[in-house]
Amino acid sequence: MNSHTDFEEMRARLIRNLVSQGVLRDEKVIKAMTAVPREEFVPRSQREQAYIDTPLQIGYGQTISAPHMIAIMCQELDLKPGQKVLEIGTGSGYHAAVTAETISIERGSSGNQVFSLEIVKKLISFAEDNLRRTGYGDRVKVMEADGSQGYLEEAPFDRIYATAAPPSVPQPLIDQLKPKGILIIPVGEIGFSQELLKIMKKSPTEITAARLGGVAFVPMRGRYGFRS
Ligand code: SAH
Repeated sequence: MNSHTDFEEMRARLIRNLVSQGVLRDEKVIKAMTAVPREEFVPRSQREQAYIDTPLQIGYGQTISAPHMIAIMCQELDLKPGQKVLEIGTGSGYHAAVTAETISIERGSSGNQVFSLEIVKKLISFAEDNLRRTGYGDRVKVMEADGSQGYLEEAPFDRIYATAAPPSVPQPLIDQLKPKGILIIPVGEIGFSQELLKIMKKSPTEITAARLGGVAFVPMRGRYGFRS
């Protein structure tokens, strides 16, 4: 394929497949994944693979999650317009852009509604450049920080999700959720199977957890992650 590759057609086909498989159901998430060009968030050499439903390498040993995983996480988070969301693990910025698009009050609305933390400095400029080029620079604020500790400066959040797996759920993430908030996070030891968890804070003292199934994410580093 060459520069005439019809990415829009490939994107529409992937989304139709995810809908017919029953993975994509929420109208807001369908619209968001139709709007965000995944090919703009992967290294140039990987553009032709952007609409295969698989994780892709983005450098520094990190990956952009598979589209079906992003669909599942956005839907389980029950994202609603205007929410304040924290992402741990910016990577390419793609997942943050889909989240920002899902919670946009209207297309083109501005304001930093998604705060995204990344621990690998060199990925921050990659993500910021991708987000700016695709029009999400105003809606996603990327920061260099250890996300295992959350982000106290902007807490509390309506929703928090992690795209890297710590050994257990970091307490600061639960603490930084608003009442009725939801946290989606993969948890598990390196090299073993991980589980995607959905933590719901019904009230400051009533926390429930549901298992959403087995997953494979990169390890979360940092204080409540794997120290190295
Ligand atoms: N959401 C990303 C997926 C990135 S992979 C996307 O759509 O492309 C997970 C990312 O988490 C990696 O970039 C990794 O560097 C980052 N990460 C790992 N531990 C972290 C921590 N403690 N704080 C912030 N980011 C972390």
